[in-house]
Amino acid sequence: MPVEPFASLPPYRIKVVEPIPFLDAGQRREAFAAAGYNPFDLRADQITVDLLSDSGTGATSSAQEAGAARGDESYAGARSWFRFRDEVRDLTGFDHVLPVHQGRAAERIVFSTLLGPGRICLSNTHFDTTHANVVLAGAQARDLPCPQALDLDSQEPFKGDIDLAALEQTLTGPDGDRVGLVLMTITNNGLGAQPVSMANLSAVAELCRRHKVPFWLDAARFAENAWLVREREPGYGDWTPRRIATHAFQLADGCMISLKKDGLAPVGGVIALRDPQVYAACEANLIATEGFSTYGGLAGHDLERIAQGLREVVDAGYLGSRAAATERLARLINEAGVDTVQPAGIHALYLNAGRLLTHLEPARFPGHALASELYLRGGIRCAELGSLYLGELDGRHRLVRPAPFELVRLAIPRRVYTDAHLDHVAATLAEIAKEPGRVPGYRIVSAPRLLRHFKVRLEPVAPRAARRGRAAAAR
Ligand SMILES: *Cc1c(COP(=O)(O)O)cnc(C)c1O
Repeated sequence: MPVEPFASLPPYRIKVVEPIPFLDAGQRREAFAAAGYNPFDLRADQITVDLLSDSGTGATSSAQEAGAARGDESYAGARSWFRFRDEVRDLTGFDHVLPVHQGRAAERIVFSTLLGPGRICLSNTHFDTTHANVVLAGAQARDLPCPQALDLDSQEPFKGDIDLAALEQTLTGPDGDRVGLVLMTITNNGLGAQPVSMANLSAVAELCRRHKVPFWLDAARFAENAWLVREREPGYGDWTPRRIATHAFQLADGCMISLKKDGLAPVGGVIALRDPQVYAACEANLIATEGFSTYGGLAGHDLERIAQGLREVVDAGYLGSRAAATERLARLINEAGVDTVQPAGIHALYLNAGRLLTHLEPARFPGHALASELYLRGGIRCAELGSLYLGELDGRHRLVRPAPFELVRLAIPRRVYTDAHLDHVAATLAEIAKEPGRVPGYRIVSAPRLLRHFKVRLEPVAPRAARRGRAAAAR
């Protein structure tokens, strides 16, 4: 197949479409005010281009839907289960396979088996639910990102790597005996969608073997990581993405995958591993909490969609065109004068709102301000990753410790939007970037104590009041 000459061309055409809403500016203002200026509280039918998440938002293929129609809904031992199991075995090389309803269920089951009170989980970066489930298991989550990850503009190809020196130091140090798990997130969703190199994974595997610590992958984007390895790491240019993915899985002792991302399915997750004893413990937990071990909370038609999705997602034509679409959007955005975390990953772009909206101090939430402006001007929904989400507030909702960066994540659903939709995003950002000083900041009106960003309510602060606020803060 002549993949190379057509690398940016999607290897599919559109067969089924869904209308998207177009609200006028007044309707968007009204809708956003009613939602308390929180994108999570907008209705989906008030949004034109939805870049809130790439999780479960992808389009399925005709082959997936044909499989779904053949789904076997038997309670135990369904035909669809065996198809799913064989696909996961073939892809990961792991014998033991347990389906779950989504990634965080896998986390809960694996952590309650491998971790416990007093134990430590080490990672390049824990995803937010992963972090929460480590803590719920009574253990401690420690992130050891490589130093270049913290330089947003650095063009280093593998900013998702773990800091190997820090990992070795922890394993040989006084806390070494308490480390129950090393978990590598591929790609590193928490830190700019950056990939992890095979060299880094191999070194982690070797360290874990030497210290007899289990090494697992949190592999929600295993195929996108494989693609970036093929593109960026010497020695892998002529490997298929599937072969790279399998090689990565085989360096580890087990994996958890949220199949709502690179499973190309609306729902689903999986645990796959080598050790029969850990498998038996996880299986008992699964049957008690998720469902029998041949369906794990999923329907037969879900298992079919995933089994087919796992084949389609490692196709070089698909991965190449998706990577090219994200890269193209990044180039348009950068040309419009808005910086993004470099280099561009695949599933999302991260806008540097702090650098664009210099008139807004962190307490006025520049990331949230930019995300809000994208909705108000373009009907585009996306999420802030800055002080609103990660900063520390006092009892009166005032920011006392800002996040290290003020970012906005544009997550790109799989096979859903064309270049024309993404052009609209770039054009809206270009409009904003012409006069960034006109973008108002925000203040919090009410916020829950936990998982604030989902239910927070805010209000805009007129630019002049914001300036007065900054002058007051300077005094
Ligand atoms: C989405 C995600 C999870 C959690 O999976 P869900 O299916 O949303 O429960 C865990 N880790 C990473 C890296 C993810 O992206």
